[in-house]
Amino acid sequence: MRRVTILGATGSIGRNTVDLVARADDLSTVALTGAGNIALLAEQAKRLGAELAVTAHEDRLEALRAALAGTGIAAAAGRAAVIEAASRPADWVMSAIVGAAGLEPGLAALRQGATLALANKESLVCAGPLVLAEAARHGATILPVDSEHSAIFQALMGENRSAVERVIITASGGPFRTWPRERMARATLAEAAAHPSWSMGQRISVDSASLFNKAMELIEAREFFGFAPDQIEVVVHPQSIVHAMVGFADGGLMAHLGPADMRHAIGFALHHPARGPVPVARLDLPALARLEFEAPDPERFPALRLSRAVMEAGGLSGAAFNGAKETALDLFIAGAVGFLDMAALVETVLDGLWAEGALGESPASLDNVRVVDHLSRQRTRQAAAARAG
Ligand code: NDP
Ligand code: MG
Repeated sequence: MRRVTILGATGSIGRNTVDLVARADDLSTVALTGAGNIALLAEQAKRLGAELAVTAHEDRLEALRAALAGTGIAAAAGRAAVIEAASRPADWVMSAIVGAAGLEPGLAALRQGATLALANKESLVCAGPLVLAEAARHGATILPVDSEHSAIFQALMGENRSAVERVIITASGGPFRTWPRERMARATLAEAAAHPSWSMGQRISVDSASLFNKAMELIEAREFFGFAPDQIEVVVHPQSIVHAMVGFADGGLMAHLGPADMRHAIGFALHHPARGPVPVARLDLPALARLEFEAPDPERFPALRLSRAVMEAGGLSGAAFNGAKETALDLFIAGAVGFLDMAALVETVLDGLWAEGALGESPASLDNVRVVDHLSRQRTRQAAAARAG
C-alpha cells in the first residue's frame, strides 16, 4: 500500500486528486487538508478513510470535529497543523494549496522524503532554489502537476537534455483573447473567472485571463527544468489540446496532447514511474478538426513581459512578483481595482523594489522569501491606495 496525503484536497486540483485516489485500490490516505470548506473536507476524509483531516482555519476546528464525530478520523486546525499533516510519513504528497501559503507545507513534505506532486506553482516562483535544494537534500522527487510542466516532463523522458533548444508553453489566451484593451479595462470578476477551456479554481482562472498564470508558468519552467529565459516561449493555442512542446537541436518538436482535464497530469504523477489508467476522455482528432496557434499580444497582456524581467533579474524577484500579483488579485476580486490595474500595480511594485536593490539576495532561506513576500504585499496595497487617491 502506498500512503498518500493531499494538501488542498477541497480545491479544484484537490477534488480531482481525491477522485483518482478513490478509484485506486493500492493507496491508503494519511492526511487531507482544506480551509473553509469543512463539509467537503469531512466527506472526502470519510470517503478515503483518511487518518487525519486538517483545516487551515483555526476557528473551524469545532465544526470539523463535529463533522467527523464517530468516524475515528482525527481533526486538527491552523497553519502549523497543516504543516504537521504534510510532515506525517507518506510516500506521495499532492501540493495543491493555492498561493504562497502552499510553500511551507510542500517543503515539509520534501523533508520527510515523500514524492511531491507539485501543483502549487507559487512554491517554485517564490523559492525555486530552496525547494529544489530541499528535495535534493532529502532524496525526494518532485513531479510537476501543472499541465504544461507535466507535458514538458513527459516530452523530455528518454531524451538528452543537452540537445534541448527550446520549450514552447501553450496558453489558451483566456476569455479576453480577442477583447480590445478598453473592454478589458472594464472587465468584471465573473467575466475574468469564466475560463473558455479549463475548469479551475477562481484565482488561477482570473490569472489565466490576465496571462499572469502563464507568466508564473514561465518562471516555474525556468526554475524546475533549468532552461534559460530565452529558451522558453509562449504560444496562444485556444483549443488547449497541445499543452507544451520541446524543441531539439535537430529542429524536431515533441508535443504533448491531451484533453483539458487536470486528471491527466495528476494521474501521471500518481502512477509515475508507471503509466496507470486515468479516466480522461480520449481525443477524437477528426472531431477536433483544428488546432490553432497565434502569438500573444504583449500590449494587452503585460504579465508576460514582467515575467521575463523577473527571470532576468533573478534573486528574490519571483517572490516579490508573486506577492504583488496575489495582492493585486485580492484587490481585483474585492472590486477595489480594475482588471488592467493588476499588471500596472505589479510593475510599479517590482520597479520600486528593484530600484532599491531589495531583491538581490537568493531565495535560499524561507526567512528571505517571507520578508520579500510581506514587503511586496504591503507595497501593492500602498500603490493601489495611491492610485485610488
Ligand atoms: P482552489 O482555490 O480551487 O483550491 C485551493 C485549496 O487550498 C483548497 O483546498 C482551499 O481550501 C485551500 N486553501 C486556501 N487557502 C489556504 C490557506 N491559506 N492555507 C491552506 N489551505 C488553503 O485552487 P486550485 O485547485 O485551482 O489550485 C491549487 C494550486 O494548483 C494553485 O497553486 C494553482 O495555481 C495550481 N494549479 C491549478 C490548476 C487547476 O486546474 N486548478 C492547474 C495548474 C496548477 P478551501 O477550499 O476548503 O477553502
Ligand atoms: Mg498550467
